[in-house]
Amino acid sequence: MQITKGGYKVHPDCKRVLISENEIRAKVMELGRRISNDYAGKELLMVGILKGAMIFLADLVREISIPTQYDFMAVSSYGASSKSSGKVRILRDLPCGVAGRHIIIVEDIVDTGLTLNSLAKDLNSRDPASVKICTLLDKPSRRIEPVEIYYKGFVIPDEFVVGYGLDYSDRYRNLPCIMVLHPKVYMDKGE
Ligand code: 5GP
Repeated sequence: MQITKGGYKVHPDCKRVLISENEIRAKVMELGRRISNDYAGKELLMVGILKGAMIFLADLVREISIPTQYDFMAVSSYGASSKSSGKVRILRDLPCGVAGRHIIIVEDIVDTGLTLNSLAKDLNSRDPASVKICTLLDKPSRRIEPVEIYYKGFVIPDEFVVGYGLDYSDRYRNLPCIMVLHPKVYMDKGE
């Protein structure tokens, strides 16, 4: 197993560490401070998108110093036909109403933008006080639908990453930092 400069073990299925634990920790603290300042005097509802955003959300809410609730939504991922439908299918909705509430959608990564574009429209139609998007990672080179990202962790190149909640075939979510998955892992499966 390779050890990187920062002392992080590179998973044998991965090419390299893209973002270390320390870099993630510092960024989550910075985002938490910004959100706490921006929403001072208000109450927040943070909405994490399952399953990828769970770890990011768990760390982020602990850096927020104002009254904050959190819950989760699960949405179907897009297939080849997704573009024509233009909507995500909600597999798990919020158990509470959002009318009049300040919402931050918390996502692991914005890629084509299809998921968040649709989800933000959906939540906006429920008469909230505000809806903003917070994502740990942004891959702008692959964008199809525009997404207004208010809180952004890192802009990354067009490589498939795993760890810190992000998966491939539901694996690698527990890696403590963001690593680039070796293409041989998905090439072997013909993807
Ligand atoms: P999009 O922005 O394309 O609608 O979808 C974003 C979703 O695609 C993310 O929540 C994530 O599940 C998946 N995704 C996109 N790029 C990556 C990546 O590099 N690694 C992983 N693990 N998932 C990705």
